[in-house]
Amino acid sequence: MTESFLYSQPVKIRFGADALPKYLGETLDELGCRRAVIVCGRHFEPKARALAARFPQIAGLFSGVEPNPQLSGAVRTAELAREAGADTVIGIGGGSALDTAKFAAAIAPGDASPDDYYTGAVPFPARPLTVIAVPTTAGTGSEVTQVAVISRGKEKRTINHPVFMPKAAIVDPLLSLSVPSRTAACTGLDALAHALEGYWSKNHQPISDLMAVEAVRLITGNLEKVLEAGPGSDLPAHSAMAYASLLGGLSFALPKTTACHACSYPLSEDYHLSHGEACAFTLDSFVRINADERLEELCRRAGLKDTEHLAGWIVSVKQKAGLKTRLSDLGEVDLEKLCRDAAAHPLMKNNPVPMDEAALRAMFEALR
Ligand code: NAD
Repeated sequence: MTESFLYSQPVKIRFGADALPKYLGETLDELGCRRAVIVCGRHFEPKARALAARFPQIAGLFSGVEPNPQLSGAVRTAELAREAGADTVIGIGGGSALDTAKFAAAIAPGDASPDDYYTGAVPFPARPLTVIAVPTTAGTGSEVTQVAVISRGKEKRTINHPVFMPKAAIVDPLLSLSVPSRTAACTGLDALAHALEGYWSKNHQPISDLMAVEAVRLITGNLEKVLEAGPGSDLPAHSAMAYASLLGGLSFALPKTTACHACSYPLSEDYHLSHGEACAFTLDSFVRINADERLEELCRRAGLKDTEHLAGWIVSVKQKAGLKTRLSDLGEVDLEKLCRDAAAHPLMKNNPVPMDEAALRAMFEALR
């Protein structure tokens, strides 16, 4: 007998090679969008300009998004949207561009200071602009979550709020073909962390579990193919990764992530690891720590021998991609602070095995 659960997923998802040029017009029409602005990074500026030339609804472009997106970029995008009288923000890019689009759409209708929205001093306006999310990395799943990760100077906040939920996602694997291999490794392991953490989270539930198993099967079957092919080739493997990333997003959207993500925040903030590399740093350790009969079953259903096989696969991908795997790779480490900050992170409470500072110290000591 299946336990009781709640599942909901409000984003209209279109998936497929060429889905962006094919379905953007239809998506804008379906959502009743009259004027839109695009937000992206430099790499996608030419693509954004081509879309603007083709779709008359597109009335503005901010192409200055950088990794670890700053509040200032979201504020600039919100200003552009107001100037253009836009009702829609289209984010094209990795998690950084999508989160900028989400935050800009949330604050554009309000007249409070952006800092007050950022700190939570004032509530977000009840009706955000519409967000259409177009991911170009196979990693964050931001296109289907109500999370926006935005930095203000060195401070990086993960804000979880229903106003950030996109109305539509267009997942076009042709867009992620150009991702550099190191980024593909980091983002692919981020997607794997989403699936595994959604599955072993204390709040997991059966529909999310199903998607997690399929995401793990696809990632362990295709990430190395993407890395071996390099940017620009093996569309089938890129497609599988784009789909797996979407499933990864759906599998953690309700259960939330756990210990790997809790550790990733101090690892990113104090040791400057990218989000995916920071999640991957402890992922194999937590596969071993959280190993139980359920996780063994996930591994078998995903076509792996067992949890040890999965942990070994993660380490081997990290090594092949040149990601950091040992504490000594991080430079001088303040282990007390790292363990204190990770233990205090709210996501740590979702981990099935309780992890206090002493348990985290033992885990990191094994990575010396
Ligand atoms: P990113 O968006 O920071 O992009 C990394 C780099 O890759 C950038 O330089 C970008 O310009 C480039 N890039 C992106 N797509 C490309 C392509 N197709 N071709 C060539 N270059 C490309 O990286 P990311 O890992 O996708 O996103 C990380 C951000 O997302 C972090 O801030 C993280 O905290 C956040 N995040 C958000 C959620 C969420 O649910 N909102 C979930 C996980 C992570």
